[in-house]
Amino acid sequence: MSNKQLSAGDHITSKCTKCKDTTNHTIVAMVGDKVAKVECNTCGGIHNYRSAAPQKPATKRKTNPAKPAKTSKTEAEWEALLNETDPAAATPYNMQMSIKSGDAIQHPSFGLGRVISITRPNKMEVYFRSGVKLLRCTIA
Ligand SMILES: [Zn+2]
Repeated sequence: MSNKQLSAGDHITSKCTKCKDTTNHTIVAMVGDKVAKVECNTCGGIHNYRSAAPQKPATKRKTNPAKPAKTSKTEAEWEALLNETDPAAATPYNMQMSIKSGDAIQHPSFGLGRVISITRPNKMEVYFRSGVKLLRCTIA
């Protein structure tokens, strides 16, 4: 919120019929607290104030597609994590292993995986290249 009081001499953006565009104007006359007349800084024409285009941003920003909110990471992110995981650094999988979310594991059948989440007292979801598997584990 701007509490700045406009007055004659201030600059304001208005539509100009001569320029056929929204240009910078200087306020020439006020009626009450409303701008009455403005002078176009581009063509010098004086005319009634026309509020500039609707208050919408000129460029629509729809760059955020709906994100799945269930897990902190998307499948693509797990895939990327897997790609940068050194297989030698992964813990070989066994049912007694202590594990926490995000750990890298090496499974005899599924290969390299990253732990997505611990789902039950002794179950974990692991992202493998072949898909997400539910495995037994011991929670760290
Ligand atoms: Zn103009």
